[in-house]
Amino acid sequence: MNYPARRRQRFMRNLKEEKLDAFLVTSPINVCYLTGFTGGSSFLLITPKRSILVSDQRFTLQIEEEAPDLETSIRGPARTTWEEAAGVVGKLGIRALGIEAGHLSVAQFDKLVELAETTSLIGMVGLVEKLRLIKDPPEVAAIREAIGYGRRAFEMLKAMMTATDTEKDMADAIDGYIRRAGGHGTGFETIVAVGDRSALPHCPPSSRRLQEADFFLLDWGARGSLYTSDMTRMVRSPFSSAKRGRGRVESRLEKIYTIVLQAQACAIAAVRPGATAKEVDAAARGYITKAGYGDEFNHGLGHGMGLQVHEAPDIRSTSIDVLQAGMVFTLEPGIYLPGIGGVRIEDDILVTDDGCEVLSASVPNDF
Ligand code: ZN
Ligand code: ZN
Repeated sequence: MNYPARRRQRFMRNLKEEKLDAFLVTSPINVCYLTGFTGGSSFLLITPKRSILVSDQRFTLQIEEEAPDLETSIRGPARTTWEEAAGVVGKLGIRALGIEAGHLSVAQFDKLVELAETTSLIGMVGLVEKLRLIKDPPEVAAIREAIGYGRRAFEMLKAMMTATDTEKDMADAIDGYIRRAGGHGTGFETIVAVGDRSALPHCPPSSRRLQEADFFLLDWGARGSLYTSDMTRMVRSPFSSAKRGRGRVESRLEKIYTIVLQAQACAIAAVRPGATAKEVDAAARGYITKAGYGDEFNHGLGHGMGLQVHEAPDIRSTSIDVLQAGMVFTLEPGIYLPGIGGVRIEDDILVTDDGCEVLSASVPNDF
C-alpha cells in the first residue's frame, strides 16, 4: 500500500471515533497529504469505505499520474467543485459530514449548507494536521532532500557573494541557487540581515550592502517538490570595510553567538520521545536567561515543519505538545541587541526512538 493510502487508513480509523458518516477535506495541502495529488482546486471525500477525489477536467491526467488508485468524481465546466462535492455527498446519502472548520470561509460554509441541505455539517479543527505531526519515511526523506538543496544553495551563495551585494541581492541570489541545486523554490521569504539589522528577527531584505558590516544573518528555506527546510546561519563577511567600533561589535557578537549555540545544544540534548515541548524551550531559555539575555530572546524556540514551514508541534513555553518519534521541528534560539546585532541559529530536528537527529547537521556553524 502506498503512503497516501496508509495515511487515509489512519485518518479513517480516527474518523470512526467521531461518529461521522464522512469527512470532506478541502485544504489543498491536506488533500495533497492524503492523496499525493498536488494540483489544488480539489476536495477529498472520505467515508469509512471509500475515498473520492472531487476535481475538474484540467486535472484528469495529473490525477492518473499522481494518484492512480483513487476513485474520482470529475466535474465539467458548468459546475463548481462545491456543487460536485455536494452532489456526491447527496448521492451517498451522507447525514453527518465533518468539514475542516479551519479551512473554510463563512461564505463557503453558507454555500455548502445550501447545496447539501439534508446533511448536517460538523466543523472540526486539525484532524488531518494531527496525522501530519508524525512524519512517515517518505516525508522525512523529502525533508532531508530539501535540506540538501538548502545546503548547496548556501555554499553557492558564499562562493559567489560580492562586497557590493545588498541584502536583497543576496536573498534573490540564494532563491535562484536553491532552484539551481534542484529545489522547486523557497519555503518562505528569505531573510538576509547585514550587521545590526540582524537585531530584527524578521528583517525584510533592504539595500544595506554586505561590505557595510562584518557579518550577516541568513534565514532560508529550500522547498523540494513539496517539503521545506528552514535554517538560520550567521556568516562572517569577507569584505568588511567597517572600521567604526569593529572590535567592540565583533567581540559582543562572538559572546552572544557562543551563548546561543550552547543554548541550542541544551535544547537538542532535551529532545526525546515523551519530553514536552515546554521542557525543550525551557532548556534553551534557561541557559540564555542565566547568561543574562533572557529578555533579548523574544520569540518561541521552534516550530514543526513539513509540507508547511510552520506547523505543529509548537516549541514554546506555553505549548502543550508532547514530543513523539517522527516529529520534525526547528530549534532556533536567538539573542537580539538593538544597534549591535542579533544572533539566531536554527536547525531542523527529527525526534527518534531514543533521542533526536539534527537533520541539518551537514550545514556547518562556523561563525
Ligand atoms: Zn527560519
Ligand atoms: Zn523557523
